[in-house]
Amino acid sequence: MDCIFCKIANGTIPVDFLYSDELVVAFNDIAPKAKTHILIVPRVHLSSASELKKEDSELLSRIFQVTNELAEKMGINESGYRIITNHGKDAGQSVDHLHFHLVGGNDLGDIVGK
Ligand code: 5GP
Ligand code: ZN
Repeated sequence: MDCIFCKIANGTIPVDFLYSDELVVAFNDIAPKAKTHILIVPRVHLSSASELKKEDSELLSRIFQVTNELAEKMGINESGYRIITNHGKDAGQSVDHLHFHLVGGNDLGDIVGK
């Protein structure tokens, strides 16, 4: 499948991982919208959060655990951050492989967006 995040996760497209384990990888967004803008991406191809099932509970808990660790590592746990996942056209989803944006490091305003 021609999916950019599958290629990044399986190493076909090399990027510096900020975190990697058997379930997820995390790396900097190529077009950061905040001082810290990290993508947390499951290795398995799911098109968006709308495909998550009951049996994905371990994956979801891992994603939030990793997000917490990265927020701590980036020093934004005190100042605050936002976790975003987009589904579909109206949300502006541009990569059809489930991913979570971790954004922070500056005032994010009051719009719930990335
Ligand atoms: P979405 O709009 O689907 O919620 O988010 C996709 C994100 O992936 C965007 O913020 C975009 O900048 C980022 N992105 C797209 N292609 C690449 C890439 O090849 N490398 C990295 N690091 N980020 C990418
Ligand atoms: Zn994929």
